[in-house]
Amino acid sequence: MRPEPARAGSRYNNPVETRPASLGSNAMKFCSHCGAPVELRVPDGDNLPRHICPACGTIHYQNPKVVVGCIPQWEDKILLCRRAIEPRYGLWTLPAGFMENDETTIEGAIRETLEEAGARIEVHDLHTLLNLPHVNQVYVMFRGRLLDLDFKAGDESLEVALYEEQDIPWDEIAFPVIEQTLRLYYADRRAGKFSIHTGDIVKHPEGERRYELRLLNRR
Ligand SMILES: [Zn+2]
Repeated sequence: MRPEPARAGSRYNNPVETRPASLGSNAMKFCSHCGAPVELRVPDGDNLPRHICPACGTIHYQNPKVVVGCIPQWEDKILLCRRAIEPRYGLWTLPAGFMENDETTIEGAIRETLEEAGARIEVHDLHTLLNLPHVNQVYVMFRGRLLDLDFKAGDESLEVALYEEQDIPWDEIAFPVIEQTLRLYYADRRAGKFSIHTGDIVKHPEGERRYELRLLNRR
């Protein structure tokens, strides 16, 4: 099969940056099926190293995780949560978390908003789909509307508050992907038209916490 042509703005334009899937910090020692020590090698017919159990033959594939979340809107304001957990304790973020089995992306965004902000929302549309290859995650963020103002901090939040754009604590946003999600949201709002944004958050190899947004398209 011929590979997809490289798209403008994608990291796949630059062959220097393409690299095999990382096992990250998810190195496995023992088989979760039978408890035997696993080996790291390339299975027959594959092209990447996997954790393989020599006792029961199970190949333990590891794949990126999907993070789902929401920008909850109320009139001109949006709802932010201040994190009560590490990493990035005490900094502000949007309600978002790992998608669970047996739920859709929208169901996950609604659940995370309820868990972290005690807030009920209706979801309007997809806002961003951003790849974070350096941490093996994909962020799927929706725009939504708060159904009421009866919100409160959940177990993972110190506080929850509505912000107008001029009051957003840009220096205290927990994650680059959330900062970029918010900047795209306000750029859309100023343009008077919301779009779906797809792209990558790329970590600078030489910088500890320097990240760059590379959009695939701008509609
Ligand atoms: Zn096993």
